[in-house]
Amino acid sequence: MTRGHFLDGDWVPGTGALTVTDPSTGEPAGAVAAGDAAVVDRAVAAARAAFPGWAARPLDTRIALVRAIREGIARERDALARVLTAEMGAPITFARQAQVGVALADLDALIAAAEAGEPETQVSRSRVVAEPAGVVAAITPWNFPLHQIVLKLGAALLAGCTVVLKPSEVAPLNAVALADLLAGAGLPAGVVNVVFGTGPDVGEPLVAHPDVDLVSFTGSRAVGGRIGALAGAAIKRVSLELGGKSAAVMLPDTDLTTAAPQLVGACFANTGQTCAALTRLLVPAGTEDDWLDAVAGALAPWAPADPRLESTLLGPLASHPQRDRVRGHIQAALADGARLVLGGPETPAGLGSGAYLAPTVFTGVDPAMRLFREEVFGPVLAVTAYRTEDEAAALANDSDYGLSGGVWSADPERALAFARRIRTGTVGLNGAGLDVGAPFGGVKQSGVGRECGSHGIAEFQELKTIMGAP
Ligand code: NAD
Repeated sequence: MTRGHFLDGDWVPGTGALTVTDPSTGEPAGAVAAGDAAVVDRAVAAARAAFPGWAARPLDTRIALVRAIREGIARERDALARVLTAEMGAPITFARQAQVGVALADLDALIAAAEAGEPETQVSRSRVVAEPAGVVAAITPWNFPLHQIVLKLGAALLAGCTVVLKPSEVAPLNAVALADLLAGAGLPAGVVNVVFGTGPDVGEPLVAHPDVDLVSFTGSRAVGGRIGALAGAAIKRVSLELGGKSAAVMLPDTDLTTAAPQLVGACFANTGQTCAALTRLLVPAGTEDDWLDAVAGALAPWAPADPRLESTLLGPLASHPQRDRVRGHIQAALADGARLVLGGPETPAGLGSGAYLAPTVFTGVDPAMRLFREEVFGPVLAVTAYRTEDEAAALANDSDYGLSGGVWSADPERALAFARRIRTGTVGLNGAGLDVGAPFGGVKQSGVGRECGSHGIAEFQELKTIMGAP
């Protein structure tokens, strides 16, 4: 059955359909409507009409409604995980614990931040009031689709904004399931609208729509640039959460036995399709072979397998086109002279027509190679040796991107001192991963703006300074 658009509290049939493919089989997993500019107009009109009423609700009421959405997601956790496994191949255990689990944690942190926040403060001689930015366009990718949607939705709703969501056409079915939950949670009609379709057909008209006040985008650098240009031309606020090429720096005193499995998780979880994945491993010169052995050992349980099995750690890529793109990156690395240690471009045996690739490790990767510079977004690790800590810092920073990074050392203070030298939006010490209570976002070409917690809510607010207030 083809699901329509969710407009003004109702499911509205669309013209045309976009088929969603199960990447583990190549078979259809479902279908959604293919929207166009006319559907965008209707969605934006509904969000605009709902805005004054939603913005005027007391914060407590908005918090209660977001909490009800959170409870709905918690109740449907297993069903949502199965949807994610079917549409983008996330291994079922990972889908339940990480994909849906992080979405729940996102909402918990946002609710806590809203409860603790001060909507009005006295600054100098004035009253400063945080007001909702208005109608928000939220455009999201396919790799952690539910997490990326609720981060925007939760923060925007708590800020008092109304939303038009355009989820990824690769993995839109979780957004269908989420929209089904919204009415049940008591959200008034028009506060959240969901329009399905491609970037050119739906995304661009949405970004350019004169009644959209703010655009919150997560996705690739190329599309982020296009959206930034459209938003800039319209003098519209925009936040861009884009790609990364993050480094894991192993300082010489690192305990390899503990660090190797942590690094493997940070690179290969979600089949390497994580914007903050640590995909460049920087190790002291002379220790490459020790690291390669340790990484190979830690990768032993990561053989690609059916994502519906509870034991699977590495599922297929999210789509066949994504598998082909990643294969192209592997072939480019071979052509550039990187030394293949594990995996490779071939389809692993015995997995039928799924979009699988084996975990792949290259060593001898130098900064001139494409594998050092380009985001792969697949299960591929690049190992590079450094001679001094200064060189390690220079290599870590030798990237157009600046999203994340990791530093390992037996001495936490030494790791912290090194982390200060890395020019990225986040850095994890000794295996520490995403903290959804703290700001998340990138510098350089990884984007503009921050999500999560109080900083995430502030992205959807405008500050009004009232001078001479009593
Ligand atoms: P993508 O940029 O191709 O698509 C993202 C969304 O933008 C989709 O909904 C798509 O339909 C829409 N879109 C495409 N063209 C558009 C246009 N011209 N105008 C408006 N919308 C358009 O990205 P993807 O392939 O879905 O996701 C992978 C990318 O996302 C990777 O680069 C990854 O690093 C990045 N990402 C970043 C973060 C982060 O928080 N920094 C998180 C996850 C993923």
